[in-house]
Amino acid sequence: MTPTPNISQRDTAHIWHPYTPMKLRPNALAIVRGEGALLFDEQGQSYIDAVSSWWVNLHGHAHPAIAESIYKQASTLAHCMFAGLTHEPAVELAERLLEVLPRNMCKVFYSDNGSCATEIAIKMALQAFHNQQQTRRTIVALEGSYHGDTFGAMATSARGLFTKPFNDKLFEVVFIPVPTRDNAQKSLDALTQILAQQEVAALIVEPLVQGAAGMQMHDAQALNALFKAAHAHGAYVIADEVMTGFGRTGTLFACDQLSESPDFICLSKGLTGGTLPLAITTCTQSVFDAFYSDDLTHAFYHGHSYTANPIACAAALTSLDLLLTPECEQQRASLARAHAHFAQRIDSHPRVENVRQCGTILALTIRTVAGNTYLSSERDRIYHYFLSRGILLRPIGSVLYLIPPYCITENQLKHVYECILDFLHHDSTADLAIV
Ligand SMILES: *Cc1c(COP(=O)(O)O)cnc(C)c1O
Repeated sequence: MTPTPNISQRDTAHIWHPYTPMKLRPNALAIVRGEGALLFDEQGQSYIDAVSSWWVNLHGHAHPAIAESIYKQASTLAHCMFAGLTHEPAVELAERLLEVLPRNMCKVFYSDNGSCATEIAIKMALQAFHNQQQTRRTIVALEGSYHGDTFGAMATSARGLFTKPFNDKLFEVVFIPVPTRDNAQKSLDALTQILAQQEVAALIVEPLVQGAAGMQMHDAQALNALFKAAHAHGAYVIADEVMTGFGRTGTLFACDQLSESPDFICLSKGLTGGTLPLAITTCTQSVFDAFYSDDLTHAFYHGHSYTANPIACAAALTSLDLLLTPECEQQRASLARAHAHFAQRIDSHPRVENVRQCGTILALTIRTVAGNTYLSSERDRIYHYFLSRGILLRPIGSVLYLIPPYCITENQLKHVYECILDFLHHDSTADLAIV
């Protein structure tokens, strides 16, 4: 008799996973349940989700209040198309988000993932100028940027491993140095030069923290100077807050740390608290006005089947309620304090470089013997080292980072820090157990 295959084995037979070299990493861990910051696999083993499941989870897994609002909405109105029709959850979510977003944001455009949210902003920026008979076409982005995996989003992302097979199909984008404190002038000079030479439509940035680049952080003031320069030349600024939004950087949105506001903000990941796919692109009145016309050709002809899905909007409303409670504000503050304390402890560790923190995000680069790339086997070893100790961490190359759900307990966080210290105390990664 052959034994019944488990979920993981059945998966291997039929499923192709994202960001996964399938031949080299054939076995996906089957998760059956989540609660708070914990995920449980089919053997009952628990894992502290220290990366919020790809940076989406805010309040913990299977949060009862979000689950309740999902159930209620699903049994009232699960979905309706969003051209010509509307519904209360979408309207209320737009109203409530505009209350907490920078004041110049005035319209909300719905979609269902972060890549779409950035594509929509790029398309809106280009069409706004097109509608006004302006020839501005250049898009400027930051070196190392990541704005998603669809073609437009890829085009505005740094060229590299992920984009290589498609580079010839991506539209041209000008990349400028990241506005770190050290590079502030260099970054501003590069932008100023392009603004003078080319007809720039928009500058797109991940404000304060470039997630996929390995949680690389830059300077708020230097970024603010870029926003100002772009605006002085009549170009739009797109803030891709898909990862940084909803409290991750210490403020509700990363842009709250700047005096100059962007013209577009893209949100997704944490929008529903990490429960359902939903995204929004917000824009200013003046962007919206460029489409508000008697001329039919001036409309924005873009939409998705599940645009503004009511269940996702209901989840987002409850997640926002939770986010704005004093309890959650406290959770974020103590998480940031704990990170700062831990950062100090490991800052001078010989195996660590560039310990950095922005609000609830902590990152460090591990000095490795060789192979600092995304594809290195070292990365896999680090991943399995923590997994075997009940912690879900997913290093980017040799960058180890924490971006936990805000509900992570003090003890869970302590366990994660201790495991990182244990890991660092190994003289070399060569002797790490591979599971
Ligand atoms: C994850 C991410 C995206 C893409 O979002 P998806 O929902 O994965 O398509 C875009 N921009 C940033 C900054 C991200 O972190």
